[in-house]
Amino acid sequence: MANGTPSRRPLEPWQDPKARPYVRIDRVTKRFGDIYAVDDVTLEVYQGEFFSLLGSSGCGKTTLLRLLAGLEYPTSGRIYIDGVDVTEVPPYFRPVNMMFQSYALFPHMTVEQNIEFGLRQDRLPRRERMERVNEMLELLRIAPLRKRRPDQLSGGQRQRVALARSLAKHPKLLLLDEPLGALDKRLRENTQFELVNLQERLGTTFITVTHDQEEAMTMSSRIAVMEAGQIRQVDTPTAIYEFPNSRFVAEFIGSVNLFEGKIIDLQGDDVLIEAQFGGLMRMRSLQPHPIGTPVVVAIRPEKLRLCPTPPNNGRVNQLQGVVEDIAYLGDVSIYRIRTPSRLLVEMTLTNTQPRTEQVLTWDQEVWVEWSPTSGVVLTD
Ligand code: ATP
Repeated sequence: MANGTPSRRPLEPWQDPKARPYVRIDRVTKRFGDIYAVDDVTLEVYQGEFFSLLGSSGCGKTTLLRLLAGLEYPTSGRIYIDGVDVTEVPPYFRPVNMMFQSYALFPHMTVEQNIEFGLRQDRLPRRERMERVNEMLELLRIAPLRKRRPDQLSGGQRQRVALARSLAKHPKLLLLDEPLGALDKRLRENTQFELVNLQERLGTTFITVTHDQEEAMTMSSRIAVMEAGQIRQVDTPTAIYEFPNSRFVAEFIGSVNLFEGKIIDLQGDDVLIEAQFGGLMRMRSLQPHPIGTPVVVAIRPEKLRLCPTPPNNGRVNQLQGVVEDIAYLGDVSIYRIRTPSRLLVEMTLTNTQPRTEQVLTWDQEVWVEWSPTSGVVLTD
């Protein structure tokens, strides 16, 4: 601890230098011809984590998952699960189960036969098989559907059956490829919470692939943001949102305003930045940067505040502009404000008043301000 006082909260495993990772991906590359689907990736995942691989289409998420499952073998690098080098171990001998995007249920089998299938293959005695099937039917609340076939189920029900089938074998590690991809928004949101509760109860380590950032934010202990086969940042959802390490991650997760500028002074923990929009910004900087460094300041729309009256304390951390667009989303409204330098700034305000009393209106002149700790200073 920096100040020598003990922390009340136990360290998360990834903060604990003594913790042993359950999964270790060590400098893994996977090439298909000229394409580097996974490019020199190093990653550690700990037991009981709900870990998400997040990135846009084609960034290599599924390939990384398939490498863990043993459905692909790396071009170079090693993969360890529970301390054992499994790089060349075939899928069947890994302590891993994978749930595919398409669910891949057997159409001619009932729900309970689908769940039982893997247990039969493992030659578990009948009594134990039945116990596990019943346990899963209860856990996923699908007991009344046990005699139905997949074509007699809704998308959400099929998804539960696929999960039940994956979990019935009590895998230590479950890999999920877009597990909620086929569900509509409402069902997706409910299922997200259920999945997290289920995972906490079972203590299974989940590694999931998604391109849906909201889903990753809701469910994950940590997220790896991927781009072009590489990992750009691994962190908790809060840290990824509040402290993105690059412009790419800041823009990928949520909405963000990016103000370009140059450091012109160092003031304690803060840096003074001459912004391209014509003002000055004083921002807290986690990294030391020399004077003259070109930077981008990333500020989330909800961190901007409206000045009730035009400010008169100089030009630091303020912007003036005209309301160009308003999007009313019920709980919040998004305002797009055009500055004289033609920059478009996004600000979110919570709607505490009835709709008829919107805080701002089109073409209104406004002043916007922010504090030094409301954003991050980026050089990448
Ligand atoms: P999506 O979200 O669309 O599923 P992804 O991030 O999971 O995308 P991958 O499926 O891992 O991406 O693919 C990464 C890259 O590797 C892509 O350019 C893809 O075309 C390529 N790729 C994947 N599998 C193969 C293969 N078997 N042969 C050739 N190229 C492949």
